[in-house]
Amino acid sequence: MEIRRPRVIVIGGGLGGLSAAVHLARIGARVLVLEQHERLGGKAGELRLGAYRFDTGPSVLTLPAVLEELFAFIGMARQQLLELVPLEPICRYLFPDGSQLEVSANPERMRQQLVSWSPESAHAWERMLEYSRRLYARAAPVFLFLPIHEPTILLRHWLFWRSLPALGRLDAFRSMHRRAQQLLADPRLVQIADRYATYNGSDPFRAPATLHLIFWVENGLGAYYIRGGIYRLVEALRQAAQELGVELRLGCRAERLRYEQGRVLGVETSEGFLPADAVVSNADVTTTYEQLLGMPFRPRGEPSLSGLVFCWGMRSRTELGHHTILFSSDYEAEFRALFQQGRPPQEPTVYIAITARSDPDHAPPDGENWFVLLNMPPEAELWSRDRQVDRIRSGLLEQLLRRVPGFDPARIEEEAVITPLDFQRRFGSLSLYGTASNSPWAAFRRPPNRSRRLRGLYFAGGSVHPGGGIPLVLLSGRHAARLLARDFGLPWQKSPTNGNRP
Ligand SMILES: Cc1cc2nc3c(=O)[nH]c(=O)nc-3n(C[C@H](O)[C@H](O)[C@H](O)COP(=O)(O)OP(=O)(O)OC[C@H]3O[C@@H](n4cnc5c(N)ncnc54)[C@H](O)[C@@H]3O)c2cc1C
Repeated sequence: MEIRRPRVIVIGGGLGGLSAAVHLARIGARVLVLEQHERLGGKAGELRLGAYRFDTGPSVLTLPAVLEELFAFIGMARQQLLELVPLEPICRYLFPDGSQLEVSANPERMRQQLVSWSPESAHAWERMLEYSRRLYARAAPVFLFLPIHEPTILLRHWLFWRSLPALGRLDAFRSMHRRAQQLLADPRLVQIADRYATYNGSDPFRAPATLHLIFWVENGLGAYYIRGGIYRLVEALRQAAQELGVELRLGCRAERLRYEQGRVLGVETSEGFLPADAVVSNADVTTTYEQLLGMPFRPRGEPSLSGLVFCWGMRSRTELGHHTILFSSDYEAEFRALFQQGRPPQEPTVYIAITARSDPDHAPPDGENWFVLLNMPPEAELWSRDRQVDRIRSGLLEQLLRRVPGFDPARIEEEAVITPLDFQRRFGSLSLYGTASNSPWAAFRRPPNRSRRLRGLYFAGGSVHPGGGIPLVLLSGRHAARLLARDFGLPWQKSPTNGNRP
């Protein structure tokens, strides 16, 4: 019997939308991607300023197994499209007391460095790795790799039943910070462990200790860069989409979803009406309901962090590596400012990525391309204030002058600034990672990948399950495609690698 090939419109060419598109095309759907901007990638952007090149969004890739599985599913060799570069060290941390630590996924290298602090620190790191490994093994198979809001899939899946006995041991009722203090003791190591809460824009002083599984994801499984820049991932997905016959329409904005009797009929766009059997929205879920459907929608959970980005083309050289973190002296005060007081922290933690360390052609030989990210509250009105960015920039330059040998602000020859308001204008939300995981129930409260209000409407992207960050939004696209496949009777082929095992 011939299967009817549904026509699917994917609204948005971010990583989640592209993931949904290639999965769907692979299983036989006719797919059209509408992207309002002239470039694909959404928050995973790229910028060139004179002789300098920048990734303007993600700079670290974790869980490469998710990527491998995606390319295996669509029948393409990832190795021919993308070169993954293990980051070694993953990151250099500079502490306010002047001490430093280069975190590595190599256990022996870590042990040697930490023993020079104290033998107890080395034991503590190993204890934390083991604890976080167990959390990952218990939580990830269900909370990342399955669409948890779909009881009919969940209850039939062997992964769920295998993980069920462990789900009561996710340490969800203690904060990340409390648990890190117990396991690591040294406040500098605690600060490193706490920092992983920001990987999905959360507050380590309130997020459940379950999120320490990210400690394992980065320090146990490793962190990666993509040769040429993280944006190469967008280009690889674009190529894959085109080879699979996906139609990509750039500069075309979805303005309204048309529906009748509870079922999606198509999309009103800046180029007219386009009929569809189903729609996958990669736009923020709140924007989709409120602006594209005119339906009220209130996310259950608080918004995740936003960010302020400086891209600096610097005609000078420092000793910094690919990734550096300059920690603030009072992390708790920093998160209080971000989440409770809704203001920029007095002394922000500074994240610096210099891709020219791995790709020398991203800056001139006597220069460096600095991508600097500061966490910011998801508050719009902060950015309409006069000189807000100037004030933060002055404090930042002063901090860098004090703490980074060789840093000279006079050598910044190219500059671009991206404020939270810019993220909102371009991508529809101040939050960079959907809702924050600041409660034990956050995973269940995050919106599902299939609409409960309209038939034929699915969601992919950081604002829905399983959340923000490259691997998670790729998985969200996969979940959306899988649900759509079930609803439309498309064959969902068994993946060769069973993505739960990195
Ligand atoms: C500064 C920064 C640093 C980050 N660092 C990391 C990191 O190191 N590692 C990591 O894993 N993750 C990181 N992230 C998070 C990661 O980038 C995001 O989670 C991911 O890229 C979001 O993908 P998405 O699918 O949710 O879609 P988005 O990137 O939000 O894209 C959605 C797309 O939909 C389009 N769209 C919206 N509405 C419409 C419409 N009406 N019509 C047509 N098109 C529309 C938008 O233009 C956009 O292209 C970072 C993010 C930022 C911003």
